[in-house]
Amino acid sequence: MSRSAHPAGPRHADVLPEGHYTAPAEDLNALDPKVWARTVGRDADGVVTVGGIPVTQLAEEYGTPAYLLDEADFRERARAWRTAFGDGADVFYAGKAFLSRAVVRWLDEEGLNLDVCSGGELATALSAGMPAERIAFHGNNKSPEEIERAVRAGVGRIVLDSFQEIVRVAHIAQSLGRRQRVQIRITVGVEAHTHEFIATAHEDQKFGIPLAGGHAAEAVRRALQLDGLEVIGIHSHIGSQIFDMSGFEVAAHRVVGLLKDIRDEHGVELPEIDLGGGLGIAYTSDDDPREPHEIAKALTEIVTRECEAARLATPRISVEPGRAIVGPTAFTLYEVGTVKPLEGLRTYVSVDGGMSDNIRTALYDAEYSVALASRTSDAEPMLVRVVGKHCESGDIVVKDAFLPGDLAPGDLIAVPATGAYCRSMASNYNHALRPPVVAVRDGAARVVVRRETEEDLLRLDVG
Ligand SMILES: *Cc1c(COP(=O)(O)O)cnc(C)c1O
Repeated sequence: MSRSAHPAGPRHADVLPEGHYTAPAEDLNALDPKVWARTVGRDADGVVTVGGIPVTQLAEEYGTPAYLLDEADFRERARAWRTAFGDGADVFYAGKAFLSRAVVRWLDEEGLNLDVCSGGELATALSAGMPAERIAFHGNNKSPEEIERAVRAGVGRIVLDSFQEIVRVAHIAQSLGRRQRVQIRITVGVEAHTHEFIATAHEDQKFGIPLAGGHAAEAVRRALQLDGLEVIGIHSHIGSQIFDMSGFEVAAHRVVGLLKDIRDEHGVELPEIDLGGGLGIAYTSDDDPREPHEIAKALTEIVTRECEAARLATPRISVEPGRAIVGPTAFTLYEVGTVKPLEGLRTYVSVDGGMSDNIRTALYDAEYSVALASRTSDAEPMLVRVVGKHCESGDIVVKDAFLPGDLAPGDLIAVPATGAYCRSMASNYNHALRPPVVAVRDGAARVVVRRETEEDLLRLDVG
């Protein structure tokens, strides 16, 4: 298929607002493999299928809106990360992107480790049988109860985020007669988002301990003195939806600089370095994410080179991709409820979900693509904004896209790349019932997170 950056033709040229567009007129029925899960296609009737099952059948069985997750794709991506980094490094899936017990089992089977950042995520991981030593516990304000649960469970590492937490975790571990393996999360003054990174004063944020001003060095100094802690390494996470490796270069350079200072001051070489997650995916055809093997090669080379220059043994590297594994593997299926053309502007397409199942557009101005899924169409393209059913004008799912001009109520449309940070950030705004996650594989579908019911809502409301 070919997609160009040309506007959609004279019909729309005068109404295109500023900004860039991904889906011009050429073939609205085509499904760009960059943004769709790997087993997605269209059947002979033109219906979108995933794992060999038509979405019309899935909609009938499970309703809409629904997150449809391509299990084979999830496993392939997890495996690709694992293989790319090999046995000399560890891949921690960032559970906050999307976590369920099925996901935990897939990760376990594919040999990945797991990041959690709350008691709830920890409980999910443990209840699905993830070995505690393969779990890392994150967060900037873990409660004493959460810390105690994590230490008792025997998590492989707790990532310390503040001076107070250093003391807190040490105290809890010691009172339980444990020595907890920890990493110290630092901020290296680099922030990376999408295509840019800024290497100046980005210590102005809630996570981590600033490297600048010697704070990170002081944190290490204190942690090394505490019997309850075994300091295994330094952690740095620089941003999200990153395509450019230069932010990691700067971060690795600065982290290795700290490792060198630690060696010089304390005579210890910390054995691990965690470079966090944040690797980007394609939400639209304009995005060009890197493959796991390219990322692994780049990160390994950067760290090795920096360590050689500092005459340090290369530490064991770990990474924490969340979005890059689960993001592309799912799409959201909606039913169109109303189609409202606004003369000279665009057509508003209202679906049966919205900001309660995808807050990212409202929250981050995120870009998404969309396709007519229950059939194909040769109608003229129309510029649309896909909106939800919530009482909020910012309730937008896809800000600007093209759909066939004959779109009508009852059509199913699908928004790809919603596997990460959609179900996990879903809300009950307007008492919406959060959609199910249906995993599809080899012609079989199963619910891994069921749809909420009004009973679920009323159960919490004790009157
Ligand atoms: C959010 C987060 C990740 C995962 O980020 P992605 O963009 O989903 O890859 C990894 N590590 C830490 C510490 C995070 O906060």
